[in-house]
Amino acid sequence: SSTPSSNFLRTIIENDLAANRFAGKRWAGRPGPLSVQQNGSPDPAKIRTRFPPEPNGYLHIGHAKSICLNFGLARDYQGTCHLRFDDTNPEKEDDEYVQSIIDTVKWLGFNWQYEGETNLYYASDYFDTMYAFAQALIQAGCAYVDEQTPEQMRENRGTLTEKGKNSVWRDRPAEESLQRLEEMRDGKHPDASMALRAKIDMGSPNINMRDPVLYRIRHAKHHRTGDKWCIYPMYTWAHPVEDALEGITHSICTLEFEDQRPFYDWILARLAELGQLGEPLPRQYEFARLNLNYVITSKRKLLQLVREGHVQGWDDPRMPTLAGLRRRGYTPSSIRLFVERVGVSKADSRIDYSTLEQALRDDLDPVADRSVAVLDPVKLIITNYPEEQTELCHAPRHPHHPEAGQREFPFSRELWIERDDFREEPPKKYFRLFPGNTVRLKYGYIVTCTGCVKDEDGNITEVHAEYLPDTKSGTPGASSVKVKGNITWVSVKHAVPATIRLYDRLFADPHPDAGDKDFLEALNPDSCQTIEGWLEPGTVAAPGKTWQFERLGYFVADQVDSTPEKPVLNRAVTLKDTWV
Ligand code: ATP
Ligand code: MG
Ligand code: MG
Repeated sequence: SSTPSSNFLRTIIENDLAANRFAGKRWAGRPGPLSVQQNGSPDPAKIRTRFPPEPNGYLHIGHAKSICLNFGLARDYQGTCHLRFDDTNPEKEDDEYVQSIIDTVKWLGFNWQYEGETNLYYASDYFDTMYAFAQALIQAGCAYVDEQTPEQMRENRGTLTEKGKNSVWRDRPAEESLQRLEEMRDGKHPDASMALRAKIDMGSPNINMRDPVLYRIRHAKHHRTGDKWCIYPMYTWAHPVEDALEGITHSICTLEFEDQRPFYDWILARLAELGQLGEPLPRQYEFARLNLNYVITSKRKLLQLVREGHVQGWDDPRMPTLAGLRRRGYTPSSIRLFVERVGVSKADSRIDYSTLEQALRDDLDPVADRSVAVLDPVKLIITNYPEEQTELCHAPRHPHHPEAGQREFPFSRELWIERDDFREEPPKKYFRLFPGNTVRLKYGYIVTCTGCVKDEDGNITEVHAEYLPDTKSGTPGASSVKVKGNITWVSVKHAVPATIRLYDRLFADPHPDAGDKDFLEALNPDSCQTIEGWLEPGTVAAPGKTWQFERLGYFVADQVDSTPEKPVLNRAVTLKDTWV
């Protein structure tokens, strides 16, 4: 693999390692499989990162940036990266999503299995610890149960220009808050009737520091803990605790969490003071999220596309999910290459969709088998070629890999060619078939077009030509006649029929969900065209197999719908950039 380019996060990590920031330090107790280290055995001086998806949808191309970044840093600096399910929102989460996330991270080529450690975690495994930490915060005067209504809380939070107001419950005795928290946990109070808040500063210029909520009541079944809990931690409270419990050193998140960093640090500092956590504490760093033209990456909106049937599922080949891109024909290495090219920075930007497509071309070009297909077929009849005769033609499996050898396929009297490769009346600079013109049938003979046959409606049903016997590719006389046109073909008797899906962008608007636009209105009504075409004889379309069809692009046998007997192919990407 190539050397990763430097970025601000690498600089931070290199400085931390040079300063020996993690050496000899004792980690706070970690629950679960890492409990061996709870007794204070020193962790080796290495970095720990994490990828923390919420299991409320399938991973998308934006997540790929975070996955490659976090797992990539751990790999490059001999550290470890955790896969952690941030499952603190019971209503939206599901085991189906957990499984798809596990599969996708593995598919991308990353692993949370290290020598002696399986670094797969669930935030819900820490619910007991978080509860104990909350009690400690209350006891220390750092948190209180607020019984204001949600409306009162919102009102008293203030605005950017106006300070917030203290709740009447803010200075209640710790004993009372502890009692209420217990009642909340025991299901004695309805949703939204009260909440546990951090006691920080209602006058802070940073609204996130105005006594943020730690726990809210949610009488909801959790996909892992079932009905055990009816209070759930807020993300901003849960996240620093999860990071600290796992000994994360660099907690990398997207820029919108920058304003939350003071709260992240506040929580960790209080818990450290209370002896609940040890040094070194995790630190949060922010990077710019991936924004891709013509693509939406909000899980809520992607879920809506699935639920309302605008696409055929999370893995529809038009979806920006990694499952969709995979079905579309994207390889793990093409996505890693894309992420590497996009780079990591602290400035928001938009990436053009063509960058993603070019990464796929660059990844597949050196490895994809070459083959021939005809997508929009019309018959070409070689009128002077004997009816029963066939002979083999040869072509390289890969033009840059002669060692891969040759493929062979038959030539016969009747061939399929692309309808567009014949014109009765050629426009200027048209070098393909038209009456009187001579072209090479690639890997076969040179032919001269003699005319065509049409039906009653004037549609061309057959093109006719005569071949020049001594011109077969690879034979001594082959180059005696010079021609400008070179067209692809497959033998009618031998070709393999296939259903082929040609995809276009899912959205017709480069910014489908900018501002308050309705992203559904930006859907491209012609994003999938299904056709019946013909493949080079001998093509075995095993699901997931990829080819470059000459002149047409890169195609993959669909993983769900294709069988060797009845191939269904997706066009992954055209050969050249056709996006404007
Ligand atoms: P959504 O808001 O659509 O639910 P999310 O960001 O909340 O998405 P998570 O499952 O919480 O989704 O994301 C897991 C990780 O992936 C987070 O650390 C998040 O920062 C990162 N991530 C999500 N989207 C992007 C993106 N477009 N670019 C880079 N990283 C992203
Ligand atoms: Mg999230
Ligand atoms: Mg989110």
